[in-house]
Amino acid sequence: MKILTSILAFVFLSGCGGANVLGVGEIGEVSDQVPILMYHYVREVDKVWDPLGWNLSVSPELFERQMEYLQGSGYSSISMGDFLLGHADERSVVLTFDDGLSDFYATALPILEKYNFKASNAVISGFIGREGHMNEDEIFEIMESGVEILSHSVYHKNLASLSDADIRFEVSSSRDDLEERFGVNIRGFVYPSGKFDRRVMRILGEEGYSFALSTEYGEADLGEHDLMLLPRIRVDNRGGYEGFVKRLEELE
Ligand SMILES: [Zn+2]
Repeated sequence: MKILTSILAFVFLSGCGGANVLGVGEIGEVSDQVPILMYHYVREVDKVWDPLGWNLSVSPELFERQMEYLQGSGYSSISMGDFLLGHADERSVVLTFDDGLSDFYATALPILEKYNFKASNAVISGFIGREGHMNEDEIFEIMESGVEILSHSVYHKNLASLSDADIRFEVSSSRDDLEERFGVNIRGFVYPSGKFDRRVMRILGEEGYSFALSTEYGEADLGEHDLMLLPRIRVDNRGGYEGFVKRLEELE
């Protein structure tokens, strides 16, 4: 699958420019398959009073145990950009966090730094600075720590329910806003609430996105999956530590 990876790398690089650009010739032995973990909140939630919130969260303690497990099992984290450039090996993992939440900055990032893990954060451009969401300064800080920024639309609507023009607005304005404010190239998109249809996928391609992440379950495989429909592995409080370990062991 090396040839495919090289083609993907070329496609990715040709739309890229700027930082983190590596030549195609530098690509070595690669794995096409990587678990892309999907997190939302890293916080304490009362399971009885807020069961939905509990299902969207991992407690800080559980999150730290998970990172400890990944490190102890020889995993290293890579960005989505690295994955598409063919820099994944058998022990690579991508850590994604949806929604640009404040607790990513306050709670998850210090733990990630402690274990030397990279992450990708899917930011809702219209929610920057709202209560519970990171503000501009915090996003600059996480970028300085090496966090990759992805677009998660402007207002987190169900894109499959919108007109073509409204889909295009959500997709292109979020990218333009993030690029202008933070001086980054935005190539990746995360479907709000996992909702999409063929029109959304087409418009993402037309607007220059290289890949999109879904909430479909599975290990992402460059040889098998459409880049606009990469699956992820959701991680939350359900299943606890044992469930997390079991899921990763099943992929091996
Ligand atoms: Zn979301």
